[in-house]
Amino acid sequence: MSNIMVLGSISTDFVVTADRRPETGETITGKDFRTTFGGKGANQAVASARLGGRVSMVGTVGEDLFGTELIENLRINGIDTSNVERVTHLPSGSAHITIVDGDNAIIYIPGANNAFDSARLQHLETELEKVELMVIQNEVPQEIVEAVIGLCFEKGVKVLYNPAPARTMDEALLEKVTFMTPNESEYKIMFPELSLSEGIKKYPGKLIVTLGSKGVCYHDGAVERNVPAYVVGPVDTTGAGDTFNGAFAVGIASGLDIEASLQLGNLAAALSVQKFGAQGGMPTLAELKENEH
Ligand code: ATP
Repeated sequence: MSNIMVLGSISTDFVVTADRRPETGETITGKDFRTTFGGKGANQAVASARLGGRVSMVGTVGEDLFGTELIENLRINGIDTSNVERVTHLPSGSAHITIVDGDNAIIYIPGANNAFDSARLQHLETELEKVELMVIQNEVPQEIVEAVIGLCFEKGVKVLYNPAPARTMDEALLEKVTFMTPNESEYKIMFPELSLSEGIKKYPGKLIVTLGSKGVCYHDGAVERNVPAYVVGPVDTTGAGDTFNGAFAVGIASGLDIEASLQLGNLAAALSVQKFGAQGGMPTLAELKENEH
């Protein structure tokens, strides 16, 4: 039985490192190439499962080799993939990343991640009865995000909404989510007219803004609170936000309060930034316990 359901993107990251970017029409020789598993949905599902969460993934991949590997990776991480569908008319989602001097340039092709149709949500209705927490992001079509939030609200299922990449959202919809976790730049896009203090005060106990190496801030209804990050030497911060969200979800789904869940999120994310790749550094429960003090 799963108590965390993650609905979102499942993708492969194709990462090339080079000394410079080619001009139009030019071919250059690069330095390195690797593929890593990605997609914010899959990343957050893996982060939760490594920490002992019972996770079910809802998503779509293509009928291609990448799709097979993407599903296998979720299974290896102990995730229920019975709600991952395969489609023939679109390729599996992919992100094409070039790194020059440590700076990313990314072309994201959603592919099968856009092949969600609302008929699938009806099928999820009965499964939702077992779910403690629904986790969603913005890498699937907006109408699906809106429909899932509405459905969970009706069924009394808590929702952790990580609004990444940022979109402007209807305020009435935000009222229906239990937690939302933008980073600072996503926050500014969502709430251009509100300072950080004004925003968290408007949504106490709900709006959690992640601040990179400064941790997270939220308002507890009485005062503003900052839960500081752990001080570490980062190697690769890709996926820090996904690790944070996956770990925070495990905390909430297992009954911890918001402050303890945020600490869990910060610790898992701090461990993850010390290794390469979004999923590569996500800690297991045993690794987390070794570093708890
Ligand atoms: P990314 O896009 O890199 O995955 P993000 O922009 O979504 O991340 P951030 O706010 O940068 O999210 O980071 C999320 C959390 O990860 C932070 O709240 C913090 O707990 C942890 N974190 C990020 N960077 C660092 C760091 N340099 N040192 C320690 N913890 C970090």
